[in-house]
Amino acid sequence: MAEHITNDLRSILESRNPENVSVLIESEPGRGGEVEDYLTERGYEYERSKVGNLVVFEAVIPATQVQAVGGRDGIIRVDHNPTFQALGAAMPVGEGGMTEAAGATRTDTFTATKELGVEVVWDDLGHRGEGVTIGMLDTPIDTTHEALRHADIETHSQGNAGDHGTWVAGALIAEDTDARGGKRVRGVAPDANLVASGVLSGGKATFGTIAEGVNDLLNSPSNVDIINLSFGGPHSSTMHSLMGEIRRQGVHPDTSAGNSGPGSATVTCPAHHDETLAVASVNFDGDVAAFSSRGPGWTDAPSKPDVSSYGGHTVIEGGQQVVTQSILGPGSNGTYTRLIGTSMATPFVTGVGALRIASNRGE
Ligand SMILES: [Zn+2]
Repeated sequence: MAEHITNDLRSILESRNPENVSVLIESEPGRGGEVEDYLTERGYEYERSKVGNLVVFEAVIPATQVQAVGGRDGIIRVDHNPTFQALGAAMPVGEGGMTEAAGATRTDTFTATKELGVEVVWDDLGHRGEGVTIGMLDTPIDTTHEALRHADIETHSQGNAGDHGTWVAGALIAEDTDARGGKRVRGVAPDANLVASGVLSGGKATFGTIAEGVNDLLNSPSNVDIINLSFGGPHSSTMHSLMGEIRRQGVHPDTSAGNSGPGSATVTCPAHHDETLAVASVNFDGDVAAFSSRGPGWTDAPSKPDVSSYGGHTVIEGGQQVVTQSILGPGSNGTYTRLIGTSMATPFVTGVGALRIASNRGE
């Protein structure tokens, strides 16, 4: 039953030769109870995640037992258990070693939404996304921010509000608000409802935490129509299954392509899969940012990323990424913050998707 152990887990076992290994165990649909009994009998400690039909156990097991667990009836697969991270928080301009090019453009989400041409769609619809519910899985957000106060926001937060999630929420639904230095912020669909799961506390999460956040969104009484996922990590077959389950429930995940460019095959998981829409970052001229991850995607989706939007821009100078465009949006604690990243490009695409859903309903 060797095929029940993923190559990612196999390579960890071979290269590190660990005594114990952290794994994700995916059960066959309807056999979660049976697998749980088996893990209990074996004396393994585990955390169980259930999203719709998908049941996954996060456990630390002895490396010598991986083959036996993988061969157990009712178990689809034993996978490695990687960490996923927010794809933008690491790049606030002026921090983390990033420098800004002379003559760099410092723009804002008002200008970005203007470049997208949102007014034309709003005029057509007669509203700005009313009746559509957007879900977002990110850091906790500052719902009291002056640019977000108008909105109907359902939050599932863990910990303090972060700049990353608050910026993303702003690009989705912020009201036109004066910021600082003559800048303005605005979202693509200010009349839409928002369900915000803040599970990326500190910008990082395991599969189990992300599954919990996806449940916040899919089980919301507000009936989420589209979801914005601005995290990525190494490929995981179990994460791929989660995207399949989201699609099975009729919801489309928009995902950030990743900030690992400009090398090829750098689109992160889950964006590199067919079930997601992978969003790359370009400047207002349509030039792809150096940081933006490049295709191809995973074997099920070679043609990636799928679409691009405004998430700031960098070029490589002397081997370093230099910022040539950054975008101001709402930050935590009522502040405004300039960020770049494919996490920033994604909510513009999700917002447009929300307007499109509103338009289809109106026909
Ligand atoms: Zn993957």
